[in-house]
Amino acid sequence: MTTTDHLAEPQGQLRVLHVEDNEMDAELVAQALRKGGFSVSVVVVQEEAEFERQLHLQNPDVVIADYNLPQWKGIDALHVLRRAGLDIPLILVSGALGDVTAAECIKRGATDYVLKDGLARLPEAVRRALQERHLFRLRRQAEEDLARKVEELARSNAELEQFAYIASHDLQEPLRMVATYTQLLAERYRGRLDENADKFIGYACEGALRMQALIQDLLAFSRVGRSGGACGCVDCNAALAEVLQSLGPAMKESGAVVTHGALPVVWADRSQVTQVFQNLIGNAIKFRGKEAPAISVQAEEVGRQWLFSVSDNGIGIAPEYAENIFVVFQRLHTRSEYAGNGIGLAICKKIIEHCGGKIWVEAQAGHGSVFKFTMPRDGPAAKELCGQEGSMSSPGAVSGSTTEMPLAASAKA
Ligand code: ADP
Repeated sequence: MTTTDHLAEPQGQLRVLHVEDNEMDAELVAQALRKGGFSVSVVVVQEEAEFERQLHLQNPDVVIADYNLPQWKGIDALHVLRRAGLDIPLILVSGALGDVTAAECIKRGATDYVLKDGLARLPEAVRRALQERHLFRLRRQAEEDLARKVEELARSNAELEQFAYIASHDLQEPLRMVATYTQLLAERYRGRLDENADKFIGYACEGALRMQALIQDLLAFSRVGRSGGACGCVDCNAALAEVLQSLGPAMKESGAVVTHGALPVVWADRSQVTQVFQNLIGNAIKFRGKEAPAISVQAEEVGRQWLFSVSDNGIGIAPEYAENIFVVFQRLHTRSEYAGNGIGLAICKKIIEHCGGKIWVEAQAGHGSVFKFTMPRDGPAAKELCGQEGSMSSPGAVSGSTTEMPLAASAKA
């Protein structure tokens, strides 16, 4: 007996609803159960209407049914149980039940069957049926709890996002006033008050500008996923080319070289795909080491996903920070070391997860970083609308997936 068996069995009498036309057989069943250690109360019925009535009156723990009755078959009691939405176990008792019929009955939902000349097995069959029902109810309860929690979480996330959006949106206006007037103060009164006053006004201006930048970032973050319906076929090669064009000055200044293989067409929001490349490549340039940045963008098919990677030869990241860096406003450096607010990767994560993918980093401090992300390869929309089924040499994609293409000449070149 397992530790949960006692929970499955009824505390007082075992309430049995017995579908049987033979009084003697009914008594034998009751005896077998008592012999097996049950204290039982048995109600015997013979036909469907009475069965249905007693079902509601007795609320039995188990239904035992003779397979062959003159008016109806015991197995038909299952329909009545289903109709009533009851998960009461039904055990068939029969004089002779061939293996095929027995298997068919179990398939239709009977919990077990016992032959009349083997009634000694009945108590064990009842115990097992009660145990199974107990476990089934526990599992159903756990599933319902989980579904409720998921729903609560989704609701509270949506509320939080709404709050972040409204707060950051509504904070902009008063903040603009603070920033404007502190700047005005700085311009009009610089040098006309004492030295400390100039310093304090300077701090106030800096603080206001910084808060404006943070709020802009927060707003950008909470906007991801709000656009809804802006998805389409995005040629990642074109998105990357656009990003490299806009990063041109930074690449030139740092001497960065970006190479890439053929990239796929994905089903996504074009501006968001561009933003992911922009943030990852922008970071690869910003967090460079002593060498000029050498950045590589690749994609490959892995199962039902595209696996993208953006690798660099920069300062790298200690593995213990590999998750933190994707959290809003989390940075590993001060602003005097590297500019930024710590929102870029959080936005990438939100975009990628919104597309049904994942993003992570594989890096070591001092040894460069590889940012990887996945995007679904053959979602129904991608398949039908982008005309691609796991191929990169589709319309709009660069052919020859192994080709390495320097996309921008370095400053030295
Ligand atoms: P920001 O660039 O504004 O700091 P991000 O969210 O883009 O914000 O990045 C968070 C942090 O992750 C950065 O401050 C940096 O410490 C680290 N990081 C991001 N990309 C790289 C990279 N390519 N190499 C090294 N560190 C990186």
